[in-house]
Amino acid sequence: MNAGASDGRVVNDVVLEVEDLVMHFGPVRAVDGVSFRLRRGQVMALVGESGSGKSTVGRCIVRLLEPTAGAVLLGGTDVTHLSRARLRGHRRDVSIVFQDPAGSLNPRMLVGEVVAEPLRLQGRGLSRRDRQARVTEGLARVGLRAEVARRYPHELSGGQRQRVSIARALMSDPTLLIADEPTSALDVSVQASVLNLLADLQRDIGFACLFITHDLSAVEYLADEIAVMYLGQLVEQGTRERVFASPSHPYTQALLSAAPVPDPVQQRARRPVLLGDDIPSAMDPPSGCRFHTRCPVAVQRCADEVPALRRVGAGTVACHLVDDDGSGPDVRVAHPRDTVPGPSPTRRSRSTA
Ligand code: SF4
Repeated sequence: MNAGASDGRVVNDVVLEVEDLVMHFGPVRAVDGVSFRLRRGQVMALVGESGSGKSTVGRCIVRLLEPTAGAVLLGGTDVTHLSRARLRGHRRDVSIVFQDPAGSLNPRMLVGEVVAEPLRLQGRGLSRRDRQARVTEGLARVGLRAEVARRYPHELSGGQRQRVSIARALMSDPTLLIADEPTSALDVSVQASVLNLLADLQRDIGFACLFITHDLSAVEYLADEIAVMYLGQLVEQGTRERVFASPSHPYTQALLSAAPVPDPVQQRARRPVLLGDDIPSAMDPPSGCRFHTRCPVAVQRCADEVPALRRVGAGTVACHLVDDDGSGPDVRVAHPRDTVPGPSPTRRSRSTA
């Protein structure tokens, strides 16, 4: 799914700009100052644990939520506070696929009606026959036969339902697709086929994709860029190659150390960094670096001072201990806090990957 220089395509048109996005639900600071850009044909994985705010970012972009502050620009237009009527013109530019297809498909509508819904909402004056042809084409694109259009969502398997969700999302030819944990509600046996389908469609059609997931192993073959969130904030961003080969932020290192790998021998040899399940509340995030209560290499400065998200090489990192060349502590060889206290952490030098 790499839409970068390796396949020769031009990816320098900005499709999405998220600027200092804030989303508070009363006292809960779900998203607190997130900024990033997505270019035409680019796939960005937004990763982090449950409660990191990544799905809230996705919902703000499609305006299912109105942000507390900040801006979301689609194709250069700020859609953050557009009225419903003016928003409709931009809705076709962005679609979303949700985690649970059973919950996102109307159980009383036939699949054909579900898939045709975006055409109806956009008021495209298609004849019944043309609409049916578009539905058949849309279903074929996701590997479903035309007869599926005459069935109800509950008559399909979970994997087929998610294919229907994807067909519906692509009906408006969006320039941006938000895929919010698109496989995590599915059986493990069908997760790979749905991920492969998304990868093939992205490559063939060329839409930009924000792939929201907690599963780092799923993004390794899909994303051009990776952005990591912790407690409502971005802590690291960079190319997939760089982040996988040489993650700078201690939280990214911990997430990667826990991601399963396909090789059973390598998997058995892994020593995941244990962060514990005690994730601080977004109602009262820790002072300084929000990760300092779980970080295996935290120092006093981490509790006192908020680390700025600063440019490091071609990416960005928010950590006091990471140098400007990207080198810093390697928590994968340091003793995690919740085991025996160990020696000073080994420093990791920057990889050229
Ligand atoms: Fe850990 Fe401190 Fe870096 Fe935060 S700033 S990630 S607590 S070392």
